[in-house]
Amino acid sequence: MSRSLPKNLAKFTKPQMESFFGSFDTVLTDCDGVLWLYNNVIEGSNSVINRLIEMGKKVYFITNNSTKTREELAEKARVMDFNVGFDNMISTAFLAAQYLKKQNFNKKVFIVGSTGISRELDEAGIAHTGVGPDIMQGSIITMVKENFVPDPEIGAVIVGFDEHISFPKMMKAATYLNNKETIFVATNTDERFPMPGFVIPGTGSIVRGIETCAERKAAVMGKPENYLCKVFFTEEMLKDPSRFLMIGDRLNTDILFGKNNNFQTLLVETGVHKMDKVNEIIEDLDKNGNADKNLENQVPDFYISRLGDLFNNFD
Ligand SMILES: [Mg+2]
Repeated sequence: MSRSLPKNLAKFTKPQMESFFGSFDTVLTDCDGVLWLYNNVIEGSNSVINRLIEMGKKVYFITNNSTKTREELAEKARVMDFNVGFDNMISTAFLAAQYLKKQNFNKKVFIVGSTGISRELDEAGIAHTGVGPDIMQGSIITMVKENFVPDPEIGAVIVGFDEHISFPKMMKAATYLNNKETIFVATNTDERFPMPGFVIPGTGSIVRGIETCAERKAAVMGKPENYLCKVFFTEEMLKDPSRFLMIGDRLNTDILFGKNNNFQTLLVETGVHKMDKVNEIIEDLDKNGNADKNLENQVPDFYISRLGDLFNNFD
């Protein structure tokens, strides 16, 4: 079977770049590893994003991070000279709140997470239990007899990144989830954060823990799952998915998400995955006669070493 290989945008001529820029109206871009690393902008990505906006493209920053609200994310971006507002931001905390709002949820949310989630719930007018430390006091027996009276108003559990994850929080979440009517939402399942010399457990570690004791699976808002399209975009907006461009640095989240939705996809090599990983996947696919959709959809349509180079052959 012949497959179409990813095209290097750095080799495109000006007319080819012109038709590339004319081929999409909406840009969805991952943040960490594409636009910035931690708190440092990746050189040139701000001017490229600003120029795409000037060209009339609709640009959305999409992040699996659940610790910031849309406004806080926009503020972080503006400090790095991206000309964006909160309505250019889609975070998993925001999606979790919108997911409940769309179902006309009118009970209370038990949160395992941080202020990114509680503030987005406030914004959506949804009641919640608040965030912060909930430490073990006394024995488990004391806890079930005296310290924990389940709140009958709880109708959903949202799990995101929580530095104060604790035994009481896990127990409470799983107890609420024991009622099958309780909606179970997770912001994302990222395993860990990259930090040289340390392993920082990511939201996925907390989500898997609670899924295990609750014996249920959460609806996961982040990439590569599809809730972003179900919750944020209307069918009308998605009627021609080929007019969307998804930009990312991870094949198994960003590119997979884009391809699963029939968007065009662009890999930048400033983050987690580089073209050597793509070539490994292509080799595997070629060796293995069986089509593996999950792997096929991790092969991007385009690549470029960094986003900041996007207009190099155009100017
Ligand atoms: Mg990334």
